[in-house]
Amino acid sequence: MAIKKPVRKIAPKTSVKKHSSKASATAKKPAKKAAKQPKGKKYVYIFGAKTEGNASMKNLLGGKGANLAEMCLLDVPVPAGFTVSTECCTDYYEGGCKLPAVLTSQVLSALSKTEAVMGMKYGDPENPLLVSCRSGARKSMPGMMDTVLNVGLSTATIPGMIRKTNNPRFVWDSYRRLVMMYADVVMEKAEGLEPAAGKGIRKLMDEVLDQFKHARGYKADTELTSEELQQLASEFKKLIRQHLGKDFPDDPMAQLWGGIAAVFKSWNGKKAVSYRRIEGIPDEWGTAVNVQAMVFGNMGDTSATGVAFTRDPATGDNKFYGEWLVNAQGEDVVAGIRTPSPINNDTKNEQNKHLHSMQEAMPETYKQLNGIRVKLEKHFTDMLDIEFTIQEGKLWMLQCRVGKRTGTAALNMAMDMLAEKLIDQKKAVMRVEPKQLDELLHPIIDPKTEKDVKPLVKGLPAGPGAASGELVFTAEDAVAAARAGKTCILLREETNPEDVEGMRAAVGILTARGGMTSHAALVARGWGKCCIVGAGGLHVDAANKTAKVAGSDIVLKAGDVVTLNGTKGHVYTGSLPMMDATENPRFQKFMAMADKFRTMGVRTNADTPADAKVARAFGAEGIGLFRTEHMFYGEGSDQALFLLRKMILSTTLDERCKALNELIVFVKRDIKATLEAMDGLPVTIRLLDPPLHEFVPQSAEKQAELAKALGIDAAGIKKRGEDLHENNPMMGHRGVRLGITYPEVTEMQVRAIFEAAAEIIQTGKKCKPEIMIPVTCDMNELKNQKVLIARMHDAVAKEKGLKQIPHMVGTMIEIPRACLLADKMALESEFFSFGTNDLTQMGFGFSRDDIGGFLQDYLDKKILAADPFQTIDQEGVGQLIRMAVQKGRSTREGLKVGICGEQGGDPASVKFCYKTGLTYVSCSPYRVPIARLAAAHAAIEG
Ligand code: PEP
Ligand code: MG
Repeated sequence: MAIKKPVRKIAPKTSVKKHSSKASATAKKPAKKAAKQPKGKKYVYIFGAKTEGNASMKNLLGGKGANLAEMCLLDVPVPAGFTVSTECCTDYYEGGCKLPAVLTSQVLSALSKTEAVMGMKYGDPENPLLVSCRSGARKSMPGMMDTVLNVGLSTATIPGMIRKTNNPRFVWDSYRRLVMMYADVVMEKAEGLEPAAGKGIRKLMDEVLDQFKHARGYKADTELTSEELQQLASEFKKLIRQHLGKDFPDDPMAQLWGGIAAVFKSWNGKKAVSYRRIEGIPDEWGTAVNVQAMVFGNMGDTSATGVAFTRDPATGDNKFYGEWLVNAQGEDVVAGIRTPSPINNDTKNEQNKHLHSMQEAMPETYKQLNGIRVKLEKHFTDMLDIEFTIQEGKLWMLQCRVGKRTGTAALNMAMDMLAEKLIDQKKAVMRVEPKQLDELLHPIIDPKTEKDVKPLVKGLPAGPGAASGELVFTAEDAVAAARAGKTCILLREETNPEDVEGMRAAVGILTARGGMTSHAALVARGWGKCCIVGAGGLHVDAANKTAKVAGSDIVLKAGDVVTLNGTKGHVYTGSLPMMDATENPRFQKFMAMADKFRTMGVRTNADTPADAKVARAFGAEGIGLFRTEHMFYGEGSDQALFLLRKMILSTTLDERCKALNELIVFVKRDIKATLEAMDGLPVTIRLLDPPLHEFVPQSAEKQAELAKALGIDAAGIKKRGEDLHENNPMMGHRGVRLGITYPEVTEMQVRAIFEAAAEIIQTGKKCKPEIMIPVTCDMNELKNQKVLIARMHDAVAKEKGLKQIPHMVGTMIEIPRACLLADKMALESEFFSFGTNDLTQMGFGFSRDDIGGFLQDYLDKKILAADPFQTIDQEGVGQLIRMAVQKGRSTREGLKVGICGEQGGDPASVKFCYKTGLTYVSCSPYRVPIARLAAAHAAIEG
């Protein structure tokens, strides 16, 4: 995507303009200077002067740095600067948190080039250049790492800055912002200080600021005078000395190095680490630091700052969508401190329609911005999220990156851009992340009910779908509620990155302040989580955990149940009925397109005819796992369960056969209905694999009932139950072992399958039963069971007058020994299906039922990168799988191989399965579309 085109030198207007000729002259020198650079790695890449990076260098320059460079190459106005690479961050950590020595000269050289282009000098008392230090990882991590603005303001540079701008208020405001941000980010967070809640330096400064305003009767920061801001800055500096035991650095160079190191340190800050855990971003990627000339949106009413999306990120509509604030710095928009104004008429809504749009207030600049929007979108062929600043009427672009979007928007944009011929079908398929589909299939409030209820308050529709739960007011409460198995809605005045764990734990997020680009909105949208922001009608009292609803006596308390419609921005009291998102024809079309690229099959794990129907509607191409024992749970299964218990507690062959004869009716009924529901598609029916003790009745009443049926007393039942007790049931008398000890149990099930299949065939319909033997570890187990299966097949075929009943016999591969001996297992098996739940359990030696006790520690201490029961451990368990596939196919060419463990619906695992050559993956019905898309992505990626 890099554009190879002659480098353009930016000739900035305003105060910078008169220096542009000098800038050009200086910019000719780099070739000579580069030769003088010390030997060693190149860590610094400049942009805006002789731009050295481009959009393809994201791994090295981070997303922000790479795209700043690309925008420069496209002649878009970008303040000059340089990027310190992610590699430098990694080396910084490897070197024991020390900046590499070679960095000094590289930064100084890049800084002098930036100075030349901008026509200002860093630290110069007359014409000072100020810079920002911003993070920028390969993958965007909104708000998770730190930024310092206005770096370079000091007692030496302030007077020159005031003379230059003739705006002392602006300079002192910039200075107090620098002091606040620097103390918080560089002097506290980066130093690893963790003050008690409410005692952080930023909070203390905010309190001083509030007292200052309160004492003077001010409401907004903008009312503070120049002198007051100066006084405030010196108060802040005193606070820093008192609380952090150090002085705020007055040397611009010390500020710059502090800023660079602090951004690197923020990569390992608490919130960044927990965000990486959730998003699966590797720790070793590191962040880049972008040092860029400051431009100011807070220089008065001809200055402004804003963020925008080239299309609507919530719906995908092809409309320029954004927010802006006059006389403000960027952080004011994103932090949700002031409710921003709409950028244009298309962005207006109920909450902000009275505010002036940029289109109305600065039509010319808006036109220029819209032109850049079109240019960038055409170049990047995707929806972008852009940040801009207007300094005294001059527009500057500060960032552009591929914008986060809801699943609905992703789908709509992919289909629209395909129709606009901006992208081809392959790209369109790749534009929707498999896990985003989850959100398209999210529940919505039943529209019939919703039209008759009045919202309690309204806000902005920031995250899709609907959610209902108990209100909580802090992130900690949200985490605690989720742990207690409750669904909760996190209500905050506004969220900040510290809330991220709570936001994850809640089913929905609601904020009283902030716009569509606020922290809450960005994070929720990235996750596809239901979210409403800027519900201004709520007055949140976080300390007392209440929220008053404006214009009413209603006060919401912790524990009150509310329902959110995140697609409309409506909040309702109580729990409203939900329904699945209706069939969306665009979704169907998209999935059909994805299927054209997919080569691996997708089946479902379904235990009932009802599940089978749902899964087929989602596109399942068969059942990969029908767990026979599951038919004994749930609705209407009482009688079958009773008979199963009777069979399990039988102690003689005679008793057991009697119970089995009664049981077969139920087993056959469910198998037949499921085969019918799948209408000729393959159905893998796994023979019973019940942990026996789970089926022993616990209640006295059920025990008595069973005792009566078996003609023994209750004490006898208890005793038989105790006899079945195993110390380690997961490795006990389960799976094939049951069929080896009690052949009649296998015979009953196999008879049920063959009779069901024969009856379907006799009505002229097709069916494809696949008999799967579980928990095997040796080919002799298979040989043993296959004799029974063949005998039963012949018997039933004869009884039904059929030559044969089509079927296959295969095995689950879920014990490491079975992987090691897969070549032998394949001799007796027509197919394999990896039971990765048990294979992970036995591969790791982690009990699948008890991992909750230590998993979090393993993740926190970075011993494991992810929960191996959710996503296949490709390094370890993956090796077993690869080996089994290869060995299995060495003795049985074309062996059909699938997976039916929980990981079968996880996109990363699906990609692994594709690469390993599996025939299909099988997952729960609602994950079928996700697996289909992940398999299509895998095929496209190759
Ligand atoms: C497995 O072990 O992965 C599997 C699918 O079987 P179950 O979860 O029933 O043990
Ligand atoms: Mg298993």
